[in-house]
Amino acid sequence: MIPYGKQHITDEDIAAVIETLKSPFLTSGPKVAEFEAAFAKYIGCKYAVAVANGTAALHISCMALGVNSSSKVITTPITFSASANCVRYCGGEVVFADINPETVLLDIEKVRNLLEQHPKGTFEGIIPVDFAGYPVDLEAFRKLADEYGLWVLEDACHAPGGSFIDSSGKNHRCGDSSLADLAIFSFHPVKHIATGEGGMVTTNDEELYKKLKQYRSHGMVYQGDSALIENHGGWYMELQELGYNYRMPDVLCNLGISQLKRADEGLEKRQAIAKRYDEAFAGTNVKTIIPPAHVSHAYHLYVIQIEDRKGLYDYLRTKQIFSQVHYIPVHLMPYYKGLGSKAGDFPNAEKYYEHCLSIPMYPTLTLEEQEFVISEILGFVQ
Ligand SMILES: *Cc1c(COP(=O)(O)O)cnc(C)c1O
Repeated sequence: MIPYGKQHITDEDIAAVIETLKSPFLTSGPKVAEFEAAFAKYIGCKYAVAVANGTAALHISCMALGVNSSSKVITTPITFSASANCVRYCGGEVVFADINPETVLLDIEKVRNLLEQHPKGTFEGIIPVDFAGYPVDLEAFRKLADEYGLWVLEDACHAPGGSFIDSSGKNHRCGDSSLADLAIFSFHPVKHIATGEGGMVTTNDEELYKKLKQYRSHGMVYQGDSALIENHGGWYMELQELGYNYRMPDVLCNLGISQLKRADEGLEKRQAIAKRYDEAFAGTNVKTIIPPAHVSHAYHLYVIQIEDRKGLYDYLRTKQIFSQVHYIPVHLMPYYKGLGSKAGDFPNAEKYYEHCLSIPMYPTLTLEEQEFVISEILGFVQ
């Protein structure tokens, strides 16, 4: 059986988990800060806050950015629904804008139109997504956001290790927060770094960082923090705001530390697999997305677009190849339809959804398996 994505757990990973299980800390111990520091170094940002999962990362990011019941936030319909749900958790309104069909990313021109059509101050922020691992042009989004006084929260779940070169020749790694205010990651098993459940928020902003740490753990301020209003002694802590228990356990942080050591290797393998797919499908009626030279794609997913998507999906299953669809447009989910969106609102996203299929992409996919996948796909479509 060949799935569309798969985690890779080595003996070193298992040893790391066992080591922490035998340590005094299962959660809130030294491995949390160690993982955060290693992750921040890998991504190239100042601060990282480990949390329970990517959805929790989105939620506390929206809290730190001040999303509330009067906020309107723009995001893409082609993403995992959590990229939009986080705004709803804070009571805000999600406003979708269509994708660019060439990149499948949030179309900045559609966002610009939306901003131009409303009085300044209508929107508070933008949540662009590095869909499939294709880095969003954050240089352009930052510029637009600055014109309108918006924040930018990058959903980089698909793109650890991805990067792009800006117009001045500077390299930006996905999630390094050199252009976004905050970025978030997930360590769900299908993602690049797999800890089961886990997530991370990255930023260069110290104020946001402090808020994130507070919201991750009930809203509590602990000993040693200058923000304490009173201090009764060594035991003393203060609940200053309402937060959640969104902590990531030490056991999983040490698994993350171990996985992170292989991140570059995994990324190279993903990129090599993508290159073979690109070459195999060139000139066929299997449409692929090939980024320009200044963009380094992280390939969480390898998405093809074909005429008979359902036919190919069903056919591949008979061959034990389990492809997947990313994503059903979020605005067409019954929950969001209930809030007012409808079919026809975002034609590019809806057309993309009719034809897209994510085919096997993970570092341990063998050459033989990939050749089998390619020949079955080409056999079906030709
Ligand atoms: C996986 C994912 C999330 C949510 O991450 P979890 O860890 O599953 O909560 C959010 N956004 C995108 C784009 C994702 O792929």
